[in-house]
Amino acid sequence: MNAQMVYINPQYIANDIINKTQPQGPPFDFEKCLRYFKHLCIVQETLEGTGYLLDIGNDDAKIIVNRKSTIERQRFTAAHELGHWILKRKTQNREANLPNKTSQSSNNIERWCEKFAVSLLMPTHWIEMFLDGTKGVGDPTVLFFGPKHFLVSKEAFYLRLNDLYNVVVIERTAIGTRLHMQFYPKRFASEEAEHIIDAIGKRIFKEQLWLGAKGGFSCGPIQYHINKENVKIVLLLRGSADTASGVNSKLSRFSIMD
Ligand SMILES: [Zn+2]
Repeated sequence: MNAQMVYINPQYIANDIINKTQPQGPPFDFEKCLRYFKHLCIVQETLEGTGYLLDIGNDDAKIIVNRKSTIERQRFTAAHELGHWILKRKTQNREANLPNKTSQSSNNIERWCEKFAVSLLMPTHWIEMFLDGTKGVGDPTVLFFGPKHFLVSKEAFYLRLNDLYNVVVIERTAIGTRLHMQFYPKRFASEEAEHIIDAIGKRIFKEQLWLGAKGGFSCGPIQYHINKENVKIVLLLRGSADTASGVNSKLSRFSIMD
């Protein structure tokens, strides 16, 4: 990371915006945010990509998002591009000192904006508030309703849980008689890991539930070794008809002791 960016903490900037515009909690409201940043607007257009920031002079800018993307994707893009706009303004007077736009520095900028977007849509204290009163990160209410509560994709939400609680979320989807496993983060996915998870799943949920249940069941965190790493895993069982945030059946949490 270049020297100019070290002093601008994306999480700090995101929290500051939240405290000034909407301290009451999720989901993050862009309208309130735009009322605060008067020089900025968000416009939906039909695009090839996800979106971009358009400078229109005099400090004014537009965030263009793809109207064909899901609302969760549009919100994430808007938060990311807002990061670009803020970073640009904060480093404006120091631009001459910034290194040329090498791929290294542009990677750093992209990482900064990703971190900013995550911190804006799912700040730590909002996640803690949401988990308070549940049985923790493995609770089905957290896993199934978290994405809807924060209006983010389930992938973004599970990766945030990984960020904050160091858990690997493994989602088992039943499509007919075929099981599909999705690992968040993806880097934990392997044939060997699926094998291990399959054995754990059958033991905890019992075979019938593990192989056939629709959404609503979860367990964990359980300490385990996956790909030679000591991690805490969280399992959730989702049916193919369940949406990202909805489930068909009653929510139940299984513990390793069951
Ligand atoms: Zn970017």
